Amino acid sequence: MHDRLMALADELAAEGEVPVSPCPDPVNAAMIRNWTQALGDRDGRWTEFAPPAMIQVWSMTGLGDRPETTPDRTLRMLDEAGFTGVVATNCEQTYDRYVRLGEELRTTSRFEGVTGPKRTALGEGYFVTWYQSWYSGDERVAEMLFRVLKFTPRAGDAPPPRTGGEYPLRPVIGPDTAFFWEGVQEGELRVQRCAECGELRHPPGPMCPHCHSTKRDHVAARGRGVVHSYVVHHHPPVPGLRPPYAVVLVELDEGVRMVGNLLGCPPGDAYVGMPVELEFQRMDDELTLPQWRPAGTRPEDPSPHADGGWPALRIELTPTFVISTALATRDLTPVHHDPGVARAQGSQDIFLNILTTTGLVQRCVLEHLPDARLAGVSLRLGAPAYAGETLTLTGRAVDEQTVEVRGTVSLGDHVTATVRLKEPS
Ligand code: ZN
Repeated sequence: MHDRLMALADELAAEGEVPVSPCPDPVNAAMIRNWTQALGDRDGRWTEFAPPAMIQVWSMTGLGDRPETTPDRTLRMLDEAGFTGVVATNCEQTYDRYVRLGEELRTTSRFEGVTGPKRTALGEGYFVTWYQSWYSGDERVAEMLFRVLKFTPRAGDAPPPRTGGEYPLRPVIGPDTAFFWEGVQEGELRVQRCAECGELRHPPGPMCPHCHSTKRDHVAARGRGVVHSYVVHHHPPVPGLRPPYAVVLVELDEGVRMVGNLLGCPPGDAYVGMPVELEFQRMDDELTLPQWRPAGTRPEDPSPHADGGWPALRIELTPTFVISTALATRDLTPVHHDPGVARAQGSQDIFLNILTTTGLVQRCVLEHLPDARLAGVSLRLGAPAYAGETLTLTGRAVDEQTVEVRGTVSLGDHVTATVRLKEPS
C-alpha cells in the first residue's frame, strides 16, 4: 500500500493546480450576517468587505452530492488500508486581499503530498496535505493549506464513555440547606451565619459550632477565593461530566471553604493558592451549580491575562452555538450537528468545526485590535471542542504584525494560532 500511495501522491502532485468549481453564491450580506450572528461577532464592520476568515465558507457546497476533490483518492486508499481515523492538524490561510460584497469567486486545488508512516499520539498514520485557492476573475484573493492525519486507531482504544448530557445528580435539599440552593437560583452564593455571634460556617448546619446557638441567617459571598486543595478526577465516570476535571476546595475571601469544579482551564493548570472566582454553571434545565474558574479570565474583566496577553474571550459551546456556526459556515458534516453520528465515530459529542474555530480566532484578534487587517492565519489544531465545553481564547501580540492566539477547552489546547497582520496603510 505504501508504494501505491506514494505513486498516487506523485501523480496528483504532478497535476498541479486544478480547477474545482465556481462558488455557489457571490459574496453576500445574508451569509455574512448569518455568520457574524452565529459566531457572536457584533462589530458590524462587514458592510463592504467579507470577514477574511469566511473565505472557505464561500466555496462550501452544503447539502447534497459533494464533488470529488483532489485529496479524496488518497484518503480512500488510506481508509481501505485500515487508516480509518482522520483528524485535521493544520489549516493555514493567506488573505491576498479582502473580498467585496458582490464578488463571484471560484476555487482551485493543488495536491501537496503525503508523508508517513509516522507514529503519533493517536496511532500510526500518514499526513496528507493540499492547497485550495480562491480567485476573483484571474486574481488570487486567498489560499489555504490543509493537512489531515489519517491514522489507524490503536487496538483497545474504545470510544470514550458517554458521560456528557444531562447531569442526573441532585443535591439533597433540606431545612438546613434550602437557603443555599435558593440563593444559587437567584445567582447568589450564600454562606450561613450565626445570628448570635456572627460566625460564618459552611457546609450549613443547625447549630453554631462556636457558641452553640441555633439562631442563624446568611450573607452573600463575594464569590472570590483561592484554591486550598484540589484533585484531578479521572475515574470513575460521573454522568454529565467529562473527565478529567479538577475538583477544588476553595477558601473564600469570607473565610469558609467550599467544594466545586474548576472550569475555564485545563485541569492540569490547577494549583494550590490559585485565585479563583465564582461561576454559576447550568447543568441542565433544572439544576445550576456554583463552580469556580481562574480569576481574571472573564471577558468583561479588564485585568490582563497573567502572561501579559489580552483578557480572555470565553465562548460557551452550547449545542446551539456548535450547530448554528456549522450551518453558518455551510458545513453539514454530521459530527457537527448529530450527536448520534458523532458518538458512533468515537467522539463524546458534537464538536466545533474548523471554519468556526478560524472565525473565532479572527474575532479574538479584531476585538482587541479593531483596526487590524489580517494577512493570514495558521492554525494548529488540537483537542476537539465539544458541545457543553467553554472555549477560552487568549491573544498575545508577538510584534506589530504577529499575534498568537491560544484556545483551550477542558481537554487542553483546542487551537494555537499565529495571525499575521498587514502593515498599517
Ligand atoms: Zn455562634
